[in-house]
Amino acid sequence: MAWKWYDATLVKTEEINPDVRRFWLKTEEEVPFEPGQFVTMDLPISEKRLKRWRSYSIASKTDDPMLEFCIVKLEGGAGTKFLFEDFKIGDQLKFKGPSGTFVAPQNPDFDIVMICTGTGVAPFRPMIYDLLESQKTKQSIHLIFGTRTEAGILYREEFESLAKAYPNFQYSVALSRQEHWDGPKGYVHPIYLEHYGEKRTDIKFYICGWSKMIDETVANLFAKLKYDRSQIIYELYG
Ligand SMILES: Cc1cc2nc3c(=O)[nH]c(=O)nc-3n(C[C@H](O)[C@H](O)[C@H](O)COP(=O)(O)OP(=O)(O)OC[C@H]3O[C@@H](n4cnc5c(N)ncnc54)[C@H](O)[C@@H]3O)c2cc1C
Repeated sequence: MAWKWYDATLVKTEEINPDVRRFWLKTEEEVPFEPGQFVTMDLPISEKRLKRWRSYSIASKTDDPMLEFCIVKLEGGAGTKFLFEDFKIGDQLKFKGPSGTFVAPQNPDFDIVMICTGTGVAPFRPMIYDLLESQKTKQSIHLIFGTRTEAGILYREEFESLAKAYPNFQYSVALSRQEHWDGPKGYVHPIYLEHYGEKRTDIKFYICGWSKMIDETVANLFAKLKYDRSQIIYELYG
């Protein structure tokens, strides 16, 4: 789909926890997008055009009436300051998009492992709904989500419900700094190393988030477990 500029109005926000906020933007025109794509917002944070641009994955389903974004506060970030302090309900901004090739595969004949930390889960939300509900895939989908504490688990109820409703959807949460937690403690890495430590050709890994986690995951899958480069697909946030 070709990208273009859209005018959008902020209609709703919700604080998931003190660090992460959901933003719902409404556009006059429909924004057709593929699940997993992002838009680039032109934020009023600099005189220079290129310094104003920040990209955010679309976290809403393709048929939702508004676009949703799930954004983390980054200490000292210029975009963060604008979005979390200055951007109010009724305010407008422009964004261009949708962009990106990190999208849900069509009729996959392979199993899918999605690995993310924090707001890296954003593109996976529409991808998972698309794969399970629209494409009705029977392939296995395993979402592996990592964060520090229980309060940082994003869209938890939704993913837990999907895991109950769809036997082919598995949801694992790794918490690195939570004292009492029944699930896996630590980072995301031991989870996929345990489940997929034996190389398979009928599987693809989708990874989304910040560079440290992505670098470590790619090194594990590619260098350690010898998965083929074509089986590892990622979206780097920064
Ligand atoms: C394709 C794409 C999709 C994205 N989607 C999302 C999304 O859905 N949700 C979301 O929350 N973010 C997303 N991002 C990240 C987002 O675009 C911004 O980079 C982020 O919000 C920080 O912008 P800022 O203006 O607040 O910080 P900036 O002013 O750009 O940066 C402030 C400082 O923080 C440093 N910094 C950058 N990353 C980190 C980090 N992880 N930890 C510590 N310091 C850091 C920078 O080097 C800089 O010095 C996405 C990025 C890309 C490329």
